[in-house]
Amino acid sequence: MAVMSDVLHRSPYEVHPDWPAFQDKLAEEAVTVGCTNTREIRARLTDAGVWPRHVRSVADLGAIPVLEKDDLPELQAAHPPFGGMLSYRAGTLKRIYRSPGPINDPQGDREDFWRVAPAASAAGFRAGDVVLNSFSYHLTPGGLMLDAGFRKLGCTVIPGGVGNTAAQIEVACAAGATGYAGTPQFLLTLLERAVEMERRLPFRRALVTGAPLPPSLRARLQYEFRVDVYQSYGTADAGTLGYECEVKDGWHVAPEVVIELLVPGDDRPAGDGETGQVVVTSPNEVYPLVRFGTGDLSAWNREPCSCGRTSHRLAGFLGRVGEGVKVKGMFVHPRELAAALQGDPVVARYQAVVTEGAGGEDVFTVRVEAAPGCEMGDEVLVALEARIREAVKVRPVVEVVGAGEVGEGAGEVVDGRGGDGQTLT
Ligand SMILES: [Zn+2]
Repeated sequence: MAVMSDVLHRSPYEVHPDWPAFQDKLAEEAVTVGCTNTREIRARLTDAGVWPRHVRSVADLGAIPVLEKDDLPELQAAHPPFGGMLSYRAGTLKRIYRSPGPINDPQGDREDFWRVAPAASAAGFRAGDVVLNSFSYHLTPGGLMLDAGFRKLGCTVIPGGVGNTAAQIEVACAAGATGYAGTPQFLLTLLERAVEMERRLPFRRALVTGAPLPPSLRARLQYEFRVDVYQSYGTADAGTLGYECEVKDGWHVAPEVVIELLVPGDDRPAGDGETGQVVVTSPNEVYPLVRFGTGDLSAWNREPCSCGRTSHRLAGFLGRVGEGVKVKGMFVHPRELAAALQGDPVVARYQAVVTEGAGGEDVFTVRVEAAPGCEMGDEVLVALEARIREAVKVRPVVEVVGAGEVGEGAGEVVDGRGGDGQTLT
């Protein structure tokens, strides 16, 4: 159960008694703001024959085509610098960034523009904490994004940036930094390097984002280095989209955004347990978004959370849209396959191949190389098959191949059917 001090740090939004109704209101507001302020959203609704006043709920958004993040570079090149998506002139912004893509990202004037504070607060950060922020402060928004959230909470930030590992360790030790923000991998690098330097980093908690956190890495950080790690999820365009609470079972949808999960290919809402693209709608005053497709995949966890927050949760990062291959009507993603096979002591390498059977049906073959000295007996194969089927929801044919036979593309899902547009790119 949540302790009282944590309850006091929640916004009314986070414990809103009717969260779905609150999402409906946000959707309506975003469409109104977006149509009034931006050419891009106005044009998209007009093309689709949708009147803003007809959008009263998240379900009503379904009539509006999704704007894919992959289309932003072209849109921004045609209408620089922000593709007609900005509410005001670029000269009124606080800062302008450039992310890989390339995509230009705006920062409006308000405090904690990307809404990082609720994520940092859910991770247990409080006023008076000293936090080492190891995201880049140059060109891309990551560094200042996290910085703004911690500053809003009243934390002191060390702007570590990228690299300079030894200097970051020295200053974090000298300042008694109890917190870390950055990628989980760089946190491990810092902790290991500190041991080599015979220093002890005083980190007690971390807010990690920007890269996956495999359970094995979380366990190491937690048990070997005693750092309590919380994930947050967001993008440069849309700010914070979700974050973990102390239960650490999925990401609560962040304040001020509507999230839909849409099944790639036909854009229908994903059912429970089904993988869908994270599509964002936000009434941001500077950069409103209506059905913005992030390209990230997740799934819903709609179970009530024991932390008391009422928002639904995203079941973590399940890959990118373009990586999926449709097999027997289901999209199979490399990440799901990895969840079933990576770390298995019997499996050295693997690759999935989808082919067409004699009757035109999809055949899903997973080719595995046994680890040196391991036997792939019938029992092992049956167990592997069951695990893969459980992870990807498609029955595989498990084929044992010789050492080195899984060449290029280990870990991938390869579409071996004759170029019929089955991949999702
Ligand atoms: Zn929770």
